[in-house]
Amino acid sequence: MRETNFLTENNARHVWHPMAHPADMLANLPRIIKAASGVEITDIDGKTVLDGVGGLWNVNLGYSCDPIKQAIRDQLEELPYYSAFRGTTNPPLIELSYELAEWFKEDGLSRSFFTSGGSDSVETCLRLARQYHKVNGQPERTKFVALKKGYHGTHFGGASVNGNANNRRNYEPLLPGVSHLAAPYGYRNPFGTDDPAEIAAAIGRQFEDEIAFQGADTIAAFIMEPVLGAGGIMVPHETFMPLMRAICDKNGILLIADEVITAFGRTGAWTGSRLWGTRPDLMSTAKAITNGYYPFGAVMIADKIAEAFEANKNTVGAIGHGYTYSGHPVGAAAALATLKETKRLNVAANAGARGNELLAGLNWLKEKHELIGDVRGKGLMCALELVTDRATKTGAPKDMVQRLQDAAYDAGVMVRTSGSNVIISPPLVITTADVDRILAALETGLTAAA
Ligand code: PLP
Repeated sequence: MRETNFLTENNARHVWHPMAHPADMLANLPRIIKAASGVEITDIDGKTVLDGVGGLWNVNLGYSCDPIKQAIRDQLEELPYYSAFRGTTNPPLIELSYELAEWFKEDGLSRSFFTSGGSDSVETCLRLARQYHKVNGQPERTKFVALKKGYHGTHFGGASVNGNANNRRNYEPLLPGVSHLAAPYGYRNPFGTDDPAEIAAAIGRQFEDEIAFQGADTIAAFIMEPVLGAGGIMVPHETFMPLMRAICDKNGILLIADEVITAFGRTGAWTGSRLWGTRPDLMSTAKAITNGYYPFGAVMIADKIAEAFEANKNTVGAIGHGYTYSGHPVGAAAALATLKETKRLNVAANAGARGNELLAGLNWLKEKHELIGDVRGKGLMCALELVTDRATKTGAPKDMVQRLQDAAYDAGVMVRTSGSNVIISPPLVITTADVDRILAALETGLTAAA
């Protein structure tokens, strides 16, 4: 490996990072992570910290999952690539579709369409939703409804349904025909209440209003994350997703569950849809499907949708969509090994139990630190929202949030920041001792930031 100076200088000179300002790179050198093991990462200076981010909410099983690494090596030897476009397929892809149909049986999803990651999966869902209505004789259903604060990746379709201004503004104009409802966000919302059930009902009314305004027969789908992630961790009331499902059903609108983060256990349930007792029509997955070791994703398709396509013999039912890497044999082999380990380790149960400990600890920190305005979380996706004044809820400035992150890192834990939020999403295999480490480092960070 080249020496540190070469790496830092050339990172600044040649690398454009996602979600970062290119002009920022020299002033704020990113940490260079060179190795990882268990639930820890090691930077180029040799400092090892607990990864409170879980890669990017995808390394659910940690960094030392040998069966996945071995499956990747073996598949590279056997068949490193072949296309899954019409006419060819491969054994790991088929076996994975079989396993996923088992995995998602309870969610009513039996067909899979493979992708290279979350943005691809969302794009696929949006396209299949529109196409379903064409197949179903309602071609005028083309619009989408989404939630403010929702994050659905960065392709033009996904960016169009995104509910965060900083992912949209510089890329406008985006897709026409997309409207956004309020986020299920107890701490800040336009409804004058912090009661999650009231907020859920109010957003339901907004949805019905929007449907009446747009015309139900123009709307293809409503998309939501069962627990909103990148927008700052918003956990809706348990009535919310079932209510949105019922409104969709009443109006012939498809429900897309964007489970790029929530599928495979992060919330404490195997899927976010199942957490809320709801069955989506289309589900996007990616991230933890290969434990982050290989770029891969899967869209899961409900029987009703699949059967409509399969019964249609016209060109309108043909899928004019797909990726060179759809069903990549190495990705499929990685996913098969990941699913097996995910089940064997029963990580959803651990995410639920450790998540409860983490949330209790974060609430305890809130009692002691004025800087914390709000604590939110479900399973192992949690957030602290930092404010400089609890009465006015003024968000903490960037440098303050950065100080917290840096001090937590020095104290041995990597956490992620997004605006005034500190996001904690560690691997799902952490122990109670790891939870304590996270809380102690956050406490150090809060003291340094204040
Ligand atoms: N959808 C959700 C809910 C996500 O959280 C993400 C990424 O964080 C995406 C889509 C996009 O996934 P990717 O970054 O793999 O393209």
